[in-house]
Amino acid sequence: MEPIYLDHAATTPLDPEVLEAMIPYFTDASANANSAHQLGRRAKVAVEDSRETIASILGAEPSEIVFTSGGTESDNAAIRGVFEVAHRKGRSEIVTSEIEHHAVIHPAECLKLSGAKPTYVPVSPSGGVTADALSSVCGDKTAIVSLMHVNNEVGTINPIADLADIAHQHGAYFHTDAVQSVGKLPVNVNELNVDFLSLSGHKLNGPKGIGVLFVKNGSPWIPLIHGGSQEKRRRGGTLNVPAIVGLASAMAKADAQRQTRWAHYQKCRTLFLNTLKEHADGYFEINGGLDSEVERVPHILNLCFHSPEGKTLDGEMLLLNLDIENVCVSNGSACTSGAVEPSHVLLGMGISTQQAMSSIRLSIGHSNTPEELTHAAKTIANVVKRMLSKP
Ligand SMILES: *Cc1c(COP(=O)(O)O)cnc(C)c1O
Repeated sequence: MEPIYLDHAATTPLDPEVLEAMIPYFTDASANANSAHQLGRRAKVAVEDSRETIASILGAEPSEIVFTSGGTESDNAAIRGVFEVAHRKGRSEIVTSEIEHHAVIHPAECLKLSGAKPTYVPVSPSGGVTADALSSVCGDKTAIVSLMHVNNEVGTINPIADLADIAHQHGAYFHTDAVQSVGKLPVNVNELNVDFLSLSGHKLNGPKGIGVLFVKNGSPWIPLIHGGSQEKRRRGGTLNVPAIVGLASAMAKADAQRQTRWAHYQKCRTLFLNTLKEHADGYFEINGGLDSEVERVPHILNLCFHSPEGKTLDGEMLLLNLDIENVCVSNGSACTSGAVEPSHVLLGMGISTQQAMSSIRLSIGHSNTPEELTHAAKTIANVVKRMLSKP
């Protein structure tokens, strides 16, 4: 039996049609897009067509699209790039939240060496940031506010337009990590009111190692990577033409199929939860809940397991046992030198260490079938009960 892949928030398989679109740029049109000869121009046309496609999906100008190596680089570039300018004008606070991706939290923490003050907005127990919570920490020293659109571990959707408004009222710039929302939700930079936005190819069935940083025209910002004059001197380095073409192709397809994919995720989630309930009622909780005031994407589910009497289990062991049964999920935690740490996102939501350590994340893709979700739910129910029945 083929493994059932339920880890699409970690990465997604490359769409065969996207691969097809990329191949010519590895072979026939593989010249450097910045070379002046005809072969270079051919590659350049592909890059500029891709930039236009991406810009139009995001409601941006092509000149506002900077190609990067992925979500991590885009997040680093936005935070560091704004801070470098703003802190010379006396603004040294970087406002973010404890449920951000490490690609946001770690650069903010690292910038302490340069005098930055990372400040964390309180997160609600359901896993969201409210406008009121942001108002309580923003001030006239805030350089940039960076809050994610969709959380990659619990799937909460933040009210980005409202949050950006508050940042702007305080004269700060607003960045959002939209790596998990692009292709899933309508993402329009004007409606979201953002100055900077990060996205990544491999989270939407595009290639790995390619991303975009949207930089609103006129935003004061210093590039992260200096080199040649590529990307109007905003990101040095030879352009990854096949990946850029693949990213545009994947985004166009995700955008065109957005509603049908969304309906598919909803159907799969309902089926999964109903099956799990049927076979393991009383053995699980949805971290952050489902029916709260916070909106959620339907393809990410974070579950905590325990016996009906409250005995917890080791989430890492659960993950490994499920792997043996060909069900691939994630625990969203960082495994450094053999020591498993509880998820910083779950802790940030106020979930206890023990509950966080008993949790796993499932993330559904549009290629998962309803049968796979039913099978996964039954397998999880069996494994959880087996683990909890051991003394
Ligand atoms: C995966 C992910 C990233 C990192 O993107 P890469 O392209 O893998 O560097 C950043 N933020 C979020 C929310 C993610 O899920």
